[in-house]
Amino acid sequence: MGESSIGGDTRGESTEGGVGLEDVSVTFGDVPALSDVTLSVAEGEFFTLVGPSGCGKTTTLRTVAGFETPTSGSVRIGGRDVAGLPPEQRDVGIVFQNYALFPHMTVEENVAYGLRYRSPPGDVGPDERVADLLELVDMADLTDRRPESLSGGQQQRAALARALAPGPDVLLLDEPLSALDARLREQLRVEVREIQRELGITTIYVTHDQAEALAISDRIAVMNDGRIEQIGTPEDVYRDPATRFVAEFVGENNVFDARVDGDGRTLTIGDDTIVSIDDETIELPQSLPERGELTVCVRPEDVHFGPGETALSATVEHVEFLGDAYRVHCAWNGRSIRARTQRAPEGENVTLGFDATDVTVVRSE
Ligand code: ATP
Repeated sequence: MGESSIGGDTRGESTEGGVGLEDVSVTFGDVPALSDVTLSVAEGEFFTLVGPSGCGKTTTLRTVAGFETPTSGSVRIGGRDVAGLPPEQRDVGIVFQNYALFPHMTVEENVAYGLRYRSPPGDVGPDERVADLLELVDMADLTDRRPESLSGGQQQRAALARALAPGPDVLLLDEPLSALDARLREQLRVEVREIQRELGITTIYVTHDQAEALAISDRIAVMNDGRIEQIGTPEDVYRDPATRFVAEFVGENNVFDARVDGDGRTLTIGDDTIVSIDDETIELPQSLPERGELTVCVRPEDVHFGPGETALSATVEHVEFLGDAYRVHCAWNGRSIRARTQRAPEGENVTLGFDATDVTVVRSE
């Protein structure tokens, strides 16, 4: 996006504190939409809520914004409890999925509308503030256009400028890119992140797209059924999923039911088939949580042709060419297993291998 002198000079951009939710529950009639959600977003952090449709992401965001009232629990913004404060007194800027620009106003008027309740932060007047923001979002050439003559991406840039105009403490973005085509989405997410960094504004971002969440965030909260399953950096959540849900939702994974045997450090997958170093079991580098049933996973990129510390006799069922790799769908003793490989399989019968260090143990529930 464009060059701008807007970073770091204003009231709103030097945010005081982040956002905290403590044991927040929200119920719609009998439907629990959020159950005991606790999270804390640091000042200046880019924090993403990710999860499948209906898991409570938007409700969480709307609760921070003041559009929903928690049934129990508390919300803090910039260190103060905001219970009872209406949205316009919470110092939050919001961008929704569906653009929500005023159709009868130009881009410039839409952005200026963001200043209707507040004077601009810093020493600048409204006109200069609007011009600076339009520069920041790379819309300086389109100030007189009406929304109908803008692309989806341009409309979202204008919506972002409007949300930022009063210098909010917190930016809330609800699936802002999901109506755009894939290439534009990838381009704009980089730009959104650059703007967020330049302003240092505390940001909560909602998406159902786990790849987008991994790419854009400082930290991620993975949500499922109104609850938080895991909070961590993208690397943590990807490499060390806490639950089976996270292992299956974030990135591709092979997930197996397994059993801890013997000395509590060895693992058996299936009744009759053994993932093995010694034809019986695989010994993991981490100590296993307990004896008995558990869930393990191995990323497809860690499964390769030929034996590793394991050697599985598998049958190729389907091969997808992805451009930078092949996704090879195989059957292994009644289970599906996927490998992401640099070369296509030769023949139908293959040996698949992976190493003990590539196996992650997760909670089964
Ligand atoms: P999506 O990705 O589809 O937008 P989401 O993760 O944002 O989903 P929410 O919109 O927060 O999920 O919805 C959480 C749950 O609360 C869902 O079961 C939804 O049907 C329900 N819900 C949300 N808003 C209302 C409402 N106004 N009245 C009744 N139920 C609601």
